[in-house]
Amino acid sequence: MKIAILTSGGDSAGMNAVVRAVVKAGILKGCETWVVREGYEGLVKGNKEYNRQHGAPSFRAATTTERPDPSTNILNNLRFGDGPLLKEGTGDDATGRTLRGRYIVRVGWDDVRGWFAEGGTLVGSARSQTFRTEEGRLAAAENLIYEGIDALVVCGGDGSLTGADVFRSEWPSLINKLHEAGQIDESTMKRHAHLRIVGLVGSIDNDMSLTDMTIGAPTALHRICEAIDNINTTALSHSRAFVIEVMGRHCGWLALFSAISGGADFLFIPEKPPNAATWQDEMCESINRHRELGKRKTLVIIAEGAHDSSLNPITAEDVKNILSDRMALDTRVTTLGHTQRGGRPCALDRIMPTLQGFEAVDALLESTPETPSYMIGISENKITRVDLMEAVATTRAVAEAIGNKDFAKAMSLRDPEFQETLDGFFASSAVVNDCKRPEHLRMKVAIMHVGAPAGGMNAATRAAVRYCLRNGHTPVGVHNGFRGLADDDVEYLTWLMVDGWGARGGSELGTNRDSPAVDLGAVAAKFQQHSFDALLVIGGFDAFDALLTLKDGRKVYPSFNIPMAQIPATISNNVPLTEYSLGSDTCLNALVDACDAIKQSASASRNRVFVVETQGGRCGYIATMGALASGACLVYTPEEGINLDGLRQDVKFLKNRYHLDAKGKSEGRLVIRNDRSSNIYTTEFITSMLKEEGGTLFDSRSANLGHTLQGGIPSPTDRARAVRLSLKSMAFLERHFENMHKASGKTRHAPDDSAAVITIQGGQIKWATVDEMVAHADMKNRRGTTSWWTGVKTMVEQLVAKPEFTAMSD
Ligand code: ATP
Repeated sequence: MKIAILTSGGDSAGMNAVVRAVVKAGILKGCETWVVREGYEGLVKGNKEYNRQHGAPSFRAATTTERPDPSTNILNNLRFGDGPLLKEGTGDDATGRTLRGRYIVRVGWDDVRGWFAEGGTLVGSARSQTFRTEEGRLAAAENLIYEGIDALVVCGGDGSLTGADVFRSEWPSLINKLHEAGQIDESTMKRHAHLRIVGLVGSIDNDMSLTDMTIGAPTALHRICEAIDNINTTALSHSRAFVIEVMGRHCGWLALFSAISGGADFLFIPEKPPNAATWQDEMCESINRHRELGKRKTLVIIAEGAHDSSLNPITAEDVKNILSDRMALDTRVTTLGHTQRGGRPCALDRIMPTLQGFEAVDALLESTPETPSYMIGISENKITRVDLMEAVATTRAVAEAIGNKDFAKAMSLRDPEFQETLDGFFASSAVVNDCKRPEHLRMKVAIMHVGAPAGGMNAATRAAVRYCLRNGHTPVGVHNGFRGLADDDVEYLTWLMVDGWGARGGSELGTNRDSPAVDLGAVAAKFQQHSFDALLVIGGFDAFDALLTLKDGRKVYPSFNIPMAQIPATISNNVPLTEYSLGSDTCLNALVDACDAIKQSASASRNRVFVVETQGGRCGYIATMGALASGACLVYTPEEGINLDGLRQDVKFLKNRYHLDAKGKSEGRLVIRNDRSSNIYTTEFITSMLKEEGGTLFDSRSANLGHTLQGGIPSPTDRARAVRLSLKSMAFLERHFENMHKASGKTRHAPDDSAAVITIQGGQIKWATVDEMVAHADMKNRRGTTSWWTGVKTMVEQLVAKPEFTAMSD
C-alpha cells in the first residue's frame, strides 16, 4: 500500500506527531509513505508543475502495469531527501503564489525524525476552495493515482474530515471520469478502484463528537492556563478583574477547561448560555459574593462564540463594561488569540497522536470497499475507531442545536466529561449559602494527603472543600498525613483558604509516607475525638495501603465505620486497576520539558547518548510513556529489568543506528531508565558502558531527573481531572453516609463497598472496593498485577526500529 498523509484546516500541536507516527507505522507495516504539503490544496496541485519543469513523464502510474513492490525493509526507506519538506517550496503557500517544489513527496524513516516535538504542522496546512469543487477533487484523484497512492490519512477539523469522506464516496465516479477522458488506462482504473481513507482530528477546539480529545486541544489548554496563571498574579496584586477571551466558536471546551483549571469566577460558553434578561445581574451577584468573602481578584473566561440564551453575542468588552460600570472593578480584557495555537506540544499531544497514527495505519490496512471511513478517536486513554461521518454529523448537530436554541440537546451531544466538568465548575466556583440539607445528613469530612506529592492533589482538595461548603458539610484538612493527625494538626478549611490551590504544585496540606498501621488504635482514637463522618485520602500506593489498613481496622475500631474514598494521586501511576493517577500527566510534562532540553544538548554534540534516570517506583509507566513522548530510543523498566544479553543488543542497535546516520547529521539520542530497573546495571554503569562501546560513533552522559518530576505547576489535565474525580468522590461519601444513616441501628456499620478507590478503567470511571483493589495488586512490588501500557514499550522500540537495526549483521 502507498499511504499519503496531509494536514488540513487550522493547524494544531500534535499534527507533526501524527505525520511521524503514520510514516513510521506505515514503513513498519511494509507500506510506502508519502506526505502531501499544504493540505488539500497540495493534493489538487500535485506534482504536475514540478514534473513539467523537470521533464518527468506525464503520467507515471499509467505507464507502469504492475505496482512497484513495497519496500518492506526500513533501510530502503530511511530517507528520501535532505530535509525535503522544509527545503522545497519554503515560503510558498496556497494563496495563489506559484510553488516551487512537489506537493506530494515520498518520505522515509529519518525524514520525520524528531517531529513530535515541533508545534504547528511542518507539511503545511491550507483551506482549499478548489477541493470543494468536483473539478478540484478530479485533479486530486489524478495526482494521487499518478504517484500510485491508494490510501489517504487526513488530519484536520470537521471540515477537512467531511472533505475526506466526500472524496472517498465520489472516488468511483472520479476514476471513471479520468478513464473516460483518457487520463488513466483500464488497468490503472482497476488498480485504483478503491480509495482507503482514515481521519484523525486535529483541532485545538476539541469540538469533534465521538472522541474525548482532539489533537492539539491539550496543548492549547496548556497555553491558556500558562496565561491565566500569569494573569492571576497581577490581578491579585492590583485587586483587578480580568476578562479572558479564548478560542471556540461553537465549542466551549477550551473555555470550560481553562476556567476549571485556572480557578475562574464566571464562565461564558456557547452550549450553556446565560439567561438573556438576567445574566448581567447574575454575574454581578456571583462575583459580589466572592468579593464579600474577601477575594481580591476576579477572573471571567469567555469563549469567542459566547452568546446569551437569545443568541445575542456576548463579547469580552460587554463583560468588562458591566464589571467596570456596575461593580466599579478595575477590569482588563485579554484576548489570547493565536498564542493558543502555538508552541511545543505537551506530553499528551505527543503520546495520543502517536498511538492514533499507528491505529490509523491499521485501519487503512484493514479497510475494504464495504467498511465506512473511520475516524480515529480516544475515550479517556483508549484509542477508538468510529464512523467518520457519524462523528461529523453529531458535531454539526451541536452547532445546529445551538442555532435552534436547543441548548439541552447541545449539551447532551457533548461527551459526559463535558457535562461533569461544567457541573464541577459550578460546584467549585459558585458560593451558595442556603444549603437545605438536614442537620443529621451533614458530614464532617477529613481530607488528607498520603505519600509523595503529586500534581493535582491541591486542586482535588480545593474542589472537595468547596463541595462540602456548598452542601452543608464541614471540611477538615488533616496536615502531614497520619503523623499530623496524631499531633492534632487539623484545621477547618474555608472557601477562601483554598482559593489559589488549584494551580499549586506539591501538597498544601503536607504529606508523607507514614502508615496508620504503626499505631492503629491511636489513629482510631483521633477519628473518634474529631468525630469524622467520612474520609477522603488523596495519594498513591501508600494511600491505598492506608485505606486497606483502616478498612480492615473496622472490625476492631468503630470509628473507622465511616465511608472512605481514595483519589489515586502519584506520579508513578502505580495504583492497581486505575489507568490514571493525578500527577502522572504533570510528571510526564516535566519529563518531556527536561528531555527536550537534554536532547538539544545531546544533538548539539552531534553524537551523544544521554541516559536519563526517572523516578516511578517499581512501575515503568513514567519511563515508558516518557520515552514515547520524548522520542527516546531505549527504555528500561522494573517490570522487565535489565540483563546482559539485552544490553549487548542495545549497544549493537545504537552502533548500527549511528553508523547509518547521514554524514554530519548524527543526532543526540535518549535512553530512559527507571531508577528501580536494576540494582546492578545502574544509570552510571550503563552510561560508562555506552561511552566505552560507542568508540568513535557516539559518547555518553547521564542526567538524573530526580524529584523535579514530582513538582512544578500541575498540568491543566491533572487540575481538571482532579476536580472531576474529587466531586465524584465527595458524592460517593455523601451517598454512603446517607445509606449508612438509613440502615443504622444502634451501632454504625460500614459495608465493604463504602471503602473504595475511584479509578479509570477501559475509558470509564469506576469505583473499585478495597478488596477488588487487593485482588489486582502486586503488594510486594507496589503496583498492579497488570498494566495497560505494556504494549507501549514495544511501540517505543518500533518507533526507532530497534528490532530491525539490532538484527542487522555487523
Ligand atoms: P478548523 O477546525 O480549523 O476550522 P476544518 O478542517 O474544519 O478545521 P475547514 O476550513 O472547514 O477547516 O475545512 C478545511 C478544508 O477541507 C477546506 O478548505 C476544504 O478544502 C475541505 N473541505 C471542507 N468541507 C468540504 C466539503 N464539504 N467538501 C469538500 N471539501 C471540503
